[in-house]
Amino acid sequence: MTGEQHNSPDAMQTLEALQLHLESVLESVPDGMVIINEEGQILQFSRAARDLFGYTNEEIVGKHVSELMTRHDAVHHDQYMDNYRRTGKAHIIGVGRVVMAKRANGTEFPIDLKIGEAKIDGRSIYTGFLRDLSEKQQAELRMREMQAELVHFSRLSAVGTMASALAHELNQPLTAIANYLEAGRDLLDTPDADSLSMLAEALDEGARQSVRAGQIVRKLRDFVSRGEISRRAAPLAPLLEDAVSLARIGTNSEAVKVRVQIADDVDAISADPIQIQQVVINLLRNAFEALSGREDAEVRVRAMPGEEAGMLAVDICDNGPGIEPEVAAQLFKPFTSTKTTGMGLGLSICQTIIEAHGGAIHVKSLGGDGACFCFTLPVAELETDHD
Ligand code: ADP
Repeated sequence: MTGEQHNSPDAMQTLEALQLHLESVLESVPDGMVIINEEGQILQFSRAARDLFGYTNEEIVGKHVSELMTRHDAVHHDQYMDNYRRTGKAHIIGVGRVVMAKRANGTEFPIDLKIGEAKIDGRSIYTGFLRDLSEKQQAELRMREMQAELVHFSRLSAVGTMASALAHELNQPLTAIANYLEAGRDLLDTPDADSLSMLAEALDEGARQSVRAGQIVRKLRDFVSRGEISRRAAPLAPLLEDAVSLARIGTNSEAVKVRVQIADDVDAISADPIQIQQVVINLLRNAFEALSGREDAEVRVRAMPGEEAGMLAVDICDNGPGIEPEVAAQLFKPFTSTKTTGMGLGLSICQTIIEAHGGAIHVKSLGGDGACFCFTLPVAELETDHD
């Protein structure tokens, strides 16, 4: 533009018309519109922008655009503009991006920001078009939270855990039954008297395991439906010894020495023995797996009076590699596993069962000298105690 054109009445009229036009645009454009100069000073602020930010024209026009930004963006703005002027490389001009903006009252909200550039007399002015995303973003956030909650719920609710528990727990007697049946079939190849008596034993054991499978289903179903357990006074020593034999079934644990030590003053627990056996079997099997291939592999099962009156404590310790640090914090959460075929349910089931009995389970040592799981259970009030 030249000075002559400025001064001519026609040009003045055109300029005035343009100014009016711009003002009407600024008043009616539905998105927020902010025009700034090269120094970042605000030249125009549309009505929608005033509504969005809570400023009047008097309050904001002439101020620096960083007033509208969060502290992080404000710090970087001038540096960014300098960079752009020097290199001509813009990251935001012509492209939309989501940034956080700051209202007059200091609250922050997300906007979709697009910036256009115009050159007048060799100087740039920038027009920012801003669209409020807070509602959209909030709706999305709520949606995501709800989805996360749903996933969390279906995975971790007691019923969900128990349903998976059922599958996991049933696996043990079913594997045992399969082993006995296979052994029985092999024995039929040499049907002499010895084989036949061993076959009878295998079939008996198989039948016992199927009864046990049925009991597990019933107990777990009861547990889920009523949230209760049927307690009785169960002598601890035979329970632990049976659990050791059962845990060995289907594993290559012959080389692992298992020592069971029961303190003299430990007698019976008040518990559902089948469920407690499940816990012990799970812990032992984890130990056997951790020990596989080790020389001098050993598991120590110890029962002793607990620190709390009326409770007793059972330790199951192995001399394997210990718990991996990555899983240590999540150990009792479902689906935590370092095994290729593991479901990561064993320990979470153990915890559910022990806590349902009023006890607690924790891991005593991590890494180095093997793993040591310890759980507590209430002592049974035997009638002889009152004599
Ligand atoms: P899963 O046996 O299906 O992996 P668990 O809940 O039984 O699930 O165990 C979770 C993880 O805890 C295992 O994958 C393993 O990494 C670790 N863990 C449990 N017991 C031991 C142990 N005695 N020694 C070393 N790591 C163990």
